[in-house]
Amino acid sequence: MKVIRTITELRQEIGLKRQATQSRESIVGLVPTMGYLHEGHASLMHAAKQQSDIVVLSIFVNPIQFGPNEDFDSYPRDEARDVETARAQGVDIVFIPSVEEMYPQQTQTTVSVSSLTDRLCGASRPGHFDGVTTVVSKLFNIVQPQRAFFGMKDAQQVAVIQQMVNDLNMPVEIVPCPIVREQDGLALSSRNVYLSAEDRQEALVLSKALRAAQEAVDISADTTAADIRRILRENIGRSSRAVIDYAEIQAFPSLEPLADQEKVHGRDDILMALAVKFGKTRLIDNTRLQRAEVLSHV
Ligand code: AMP
Repeated sequence: MKVIRTITELRQEIGLKRQATQSRESIVGLVPTMGYLHEGHASLMHAAKQQSDIVVLSIFVNPIQFGPNEDFDSYPRDEARDVETARAQGVDIVFIPSVEEMYPQQTQTTVSVSSLTDRLCGASRPGHFDGVTTVVSKLFNIVQPQRAFFGMKDAQQVAVIQQMVNDLNMPVEIVPCPIVREQDGLALSSRNVYLSAEDRQEALVLSKALRAAQEAVDISADTTAADIRRILRENIGRSSRAVIDYAEIQAFPSLEPLADQEKVHGRDDILMALAVKFGKTRLIDNTRLQRAEVLSHV
């Protein structure tokens, strides 16, 4: 496995690796991350390994996707451990550019997806998705992958990137991968290390709220979007420390909010999404509604 820090070297190395598999067109799979790797990231590397000939993992804490009062400086970093994780997953190249390598001069170009980004995380983190789509475009241009692997943990990010790829005819297939959770239900996140022991325990209200909402749909075909919103809020409200940013239900991937009276039974294009703060730590979680086997109502 090669650890590479410059764009020039990365392009050379990918070129060499492509030549080595000359007999056919080799598939380059890209896994973009901000590092401090956990099992969620490992699942993306695993999927990339299965679906690509050459796996490139990028580790870059991208300053332009953080707001001025966000955690760019304190974002957890552990390069040595990340490199070992990547090696264990069979990654071929780890790309760890510096901020200067990615943004050597004042840039004048931003890649921006419009309406999908004005809601959910986009509403509370202005500019965040412009930072994401700009850096992901740069990574796509640098690596030129045939496939790129993203976690559904960031479901809005998946929708936004797929829209960008469609709109700009980028020749890359976006592969969404399922959310990996701790045994007790907490979705893995690099930011979980910020949580105090007490908040870590209380953070279980997110996954519990999503499960409770799914159960309500399983039990009654009459469950409406308003019911789901209420159930989500009630469950999160069980933690006195939780401050809700949003608890929403919308179509996926259009992210169109559902009207309160809309029934959700029988639809499999519905996403319930949460963002909740515990102190300074903002956690997100979501679930695609499973098409329900209704028990009490036919
Ligand atoms: P990050 O390093 O947090 O920017 O995440 C890099 C990639 O890993 C993104 O595509 C995330 O959606 C994905 N990811 C983060 N946490 C998880 C998780 N718990 N399960 C699956 N994918 C995840």
